[in-house]
This record gives sequence, structure tokens and C-alpha cells, in this order.
Amino acid sequence: MSKVNQDEISSILEGYDKEETTIATLGSHTSLHILKGAKKEGFKTAVVCEKGREVPYQRFKVADEYILVDKFSDIVNEEVQQQLRDMNSVVVPHGSFVAYAGLDRIENDFHVPMFGNRDILRWEAERDLERKLIIESGIRMPFKYDNAEDIDRAVMVKFPGARGGKGYFVASSHEEYDEKIASMLKREWIDEDDVPKAHIEEYVSGTNFCVHFFYSVLNDEVEVLGMDSRFESNIDGLVRIPAKDQLEVGLSPSYVITGNHPVVMRESLLPQVFEIGDSLVESAKDLVPPGMNGPFCLQTMCTDNLEIVTFEMSARTDGGTNTFMNGSAYSYLLFDEEMSMGQRIAREIKNGLKEDKLDNLIT
Ligand code: AMP
Repeated sequence: MSKVNQDEISSILEGYDKEETTIATLGSHTSLHILKGAKKEGFKTAVVCEKGREVPYQRFKVADEYILVDKFSDIVNEEVQQQLRDMNSVVVPHGSFVAYAGLDRIENDFHVPMFGNRDILRWEAERDLERKLIIESGIRMPFKYDNAEDIDRAVMVKFPGARGGKGYFVASSHEEYDEKIASMLKREWIDEDDVPKAHIEEYVSGTNFCVHFFYSVLNDEVEVLGMDSRFESNIDGLVRIPAKDQLEVGLSPSYVITGNHPVVMRESLLPQVFEIGDSLVESAKDLVPPGMNGPFCLQTMCTDNLEIVTFEMSARTDGGTNTFMNGSAYSYLLFDEEMSMGQRIAREIKNGLKEDKLDNLIT
């Protein structure tokens, strides 16, 4: 099967009525501010939505057009793609779009122009590629263990795919690892197929900052637009119990993400933030051309040595951008207005259209 290539996307764009460009996305994840931001920049908007899930888009009045489907994964069906092209759509990918459409279909069957680099989505989804990109950017990542037998300190154990932390656990020895794998299987949070794919990494003790960057191809500049930290269940509740009671209740911690809150960082840490964002963008240009274009997120822990350690990346708009639908402290500094990630994407598309460089922003 041949991959969707840039020549094909460019010729679809050529056939578009640019004055009528629609910004479209799947109705989930970060679509509210993607659509709202597009409207603020003067675009028409369309949402592809599972029947019965359209209420938020109607009530928040962010979508001009609705493509209702039986299931989210139908966004890659040929009729839906045709409808999107007929509306001169540029699709903005997000975490749910990637999860429901599937990487293979996005790479091979989705013949609709997408904002950003469609090839880089695989690099966030596959841990080895993600690690390669981050390490080759010179960014500090948690140490990775190849075998559970080698566990010699606190480790975090993770499983493939963006699953919002479900099934993750902490262990300090091989025995504890085996016990917890058994308990996750029993709970059906992981299945037998996941076990050989367990990813074991150094547990980084610190505070969580998820940094939302935007790389503007038009300005060749990396912007910091916002930061969030996660609410995680049940660990956040568990730490409210005094240590001696924690031992008695015998609850095991889990790291399921249930929400996000906006944060700001100590100002003296910001040089590190720009350094990691700039480095990632530079190495992505070589490793996955055309690079990390548009929104991306580095999920980090800041240690008590004030070192920022990156444990995960999103190569598209991350769920935490929902904390600044009406702007963040950082987007205010840069734009003097309430700039969301969605609006920033739409502004780049608008400028791309004005400068006749849309082709550089789309794959
Ligand atoms: P993730 O799905 O990778 O974003 O991880 C979910 C949560 O697990 C994070 O928000 C952190 O609280 C925690 N976490 C992930 N990796 C590590 C690590 N290496 N050290 C400490 N905590 C981690």
C-alpha cells in the first residue's frame, strides 16, 4: 500500500476554493477550542461527530457543519473524506483522531489535507521512536530498563498507546513488578498481549509540567503557549492520606488522568523549557521531515535539583491545551490576547493562505 504523499495533498489543495477553507476535526479531545479558534480567525468549521455526541458543539456553537457518523473511526471512510474535501477542509489532528482513525489509515488512506506533519504521529505513538527523537535532541529522559530482572530502584511501568495512564504502576523490585503485573491483569486494565510490551523506566520524583509548544513554520519560531499539570486518580487522592494510614488501607496507586489544571513555572526554569523545545524542533527536521510543525507537548517532571526530565511527548495538540481555551499567562505574554492553541493553529493557516504558503503547513 502506498503512503499518502505530499504531491497528492498539494494537488488536492490546488483544487480547493481557498476563500472557503473549512477547519475540521473529530468531535472529541480538544475539538472545542480548535473549532472556536478557527471561528475567531474567520474560518468556517466542521465537526465529524459520533451520533449522540453532537450536543457540546451545538450548545457551545462552535461548528458550522456536522458530519454525523456511527462511530468515530468512520472519519477515514471514503464518503466522509469526500465530504471533507468538498468543504475545502484542513483537518486538525488530535489525540482522539489518532486513536480512532488509526496510524496506518492516517498514513495510507486519509486523502484529506492535515495541519502539521502526519508522519510524526507515529513517532509519539511508538515508544522506541519517541525515545529516539527525544534522546537525539539531547533532552534528558528517564533511564529505560530492558528487563524486569534489572530493576534496582523505583521504576514506572507503562503500556503501549495513549491510554491516559491506565495500567501504569510503580515498582521497586522484580518481585513487586511480577505481583503488580498479575494484579493489573486481574483488574483487566492490561491484557496478556500487553505484558511483553511493558515499558520500564526510572521513576522520576518531582513535580509535573506539561509544556505546550507551537512551532511556527512561517516564522521559524518555537513558542511556549501554555503549561498544565495533571489530575491523576487515585494517586492524587492517595497522597491526602497520612503515610501511616496509607500503609494500613493497602490501596495501590494508579495514574489515570482525570483532568488538567493550568500552571506556571518558576521563571528561572524557562530557559530550560525553550532549550528543550528548540532542540526537539531542530532534530525533528532531520529525523522526520518536514519536522515538528505546529503544536506539540513535552510532558516533564521537574526534580528538586531543578532539572527538567521529559518522560513523554505529544506530536500534536495535547489534551492539556484545554486549560487555556481563553489563553494562558504565556500566550498572553506573546500575543497580548486570549490565544488558545486552536486559535494559534487557525492563525497560522490564515497567514499561510495570505502568504500563499499553505502547502508548507499541510501534509
Ligand atoms: P503518561 O501517560 O506517560 O503521561 O503518564 C501518566 C502519569 O504517570 C504522568 O502524568 C506522571 O504522573 C506519571 N509518570 C509517567 N512517567 C513517569 C516517570 N518516569 N516518573 C514518574 N512519574 C511518571
